[in-house]
Amino acid sequence: MMAKKWLSVTLMMIVMSVGVLAGCGNEKANNSSGSTNGNSEAEASLLDEIKSRGKLVVGVKYDTKLFGLKNPANNEVEGFDVDIAKALAKSILGDETKLELKEVTSKTRIPMLDNNEIDLIVATMTITEERKEQVDFSEVYFKAGQSLLVKKGSAIKSIEDISKGTKVLAVKGSTSVDNIIEKAPDATVLEFDNYQDAFAALKAGQGDVLTTDNAILYGMMAQDAGYEVVGEPFTDEPYGIAIKKGETALVDAVNKELAAMNSSGEYKKIYENWIGEAPSE
Ligand code: GLU
Repeated sequence: MMAKKWLSVTLMMIVMSVGVLAGCGNEKANNSSGSTNGNSEAEASLLDEIKSRGKLVVGVKYDTKLFGLKNPANNEVEGFDVDIAKALAKSILGDETKLELKEVTSKTRIPMLDNNEIDLIVATMTITEERKEQVDFSEVYFKAGQSLLVKKGSAIKSIEDISKGTKVLAVKGSTSVDNIIEKAPDATVLEFDNYQDAFAALKAGQGDVLTTDNAILYGMMAQDAGYEVVGEPFTDEPYGIAIKKGETALVDAVNKELAAMNSSGEYKKIYENWIGEAPSE
């Protein structure tokens, strides 16, 4: 009797997971060519699909000042990453408005790329060996380093001041979480879904320090002068544009445009506009 029940439960689960898998295939909303696997050589490449669709779909942050922040006044998403995305749309499709932005968080960006919801991730994403197993990356387009943000006057002045009982706020799916656990193993790390939630928690006194890339923390400082970045960066966070594995033509097109932006001076202009200084090197 019991065994029979288990059998039917198992069967039901199999039926359900097949249903879920079939459902996933339908989520390729932006793919007008109708092909379901851009990686197969027999099918059109993702770059071809983007061209025939006439629109580049890019995942950017919506809550990260300086890189990708939705301006509630006009609903525009603005920042360094957004300007890079516009330049890519211009070079691939001849028009920077042939661009659709979608919000990603650190946790959702790779799954959204995998589900074909977006063509590219341009979202403060560090190139790591672990991530390279899941996605392909462009050349480095921004260099950050992990740092700390505290309320002005905090006793925490650098990573050395983080000790047992220090509450560190970070964002799920970011390299910042892994790095802080490695560099300050005694700390208590509290993880949030996105950077505005983490910053709100810092302001509400739910933690002593917020950690992520210095460039993101500078954006928070610009939002609230009561907070400051302390200590030297303690990691290297080279940002890359992530692309679904195997789409070499798209990787080449992205790298070609990054190189062209460098030599034309457009990259420098975008960098200075958002970061407030000239890029290093
Ligand atoms: N650059 C780091 C990362 O890719 C932190 C910023 C972010 O969460 O996007 O995880």
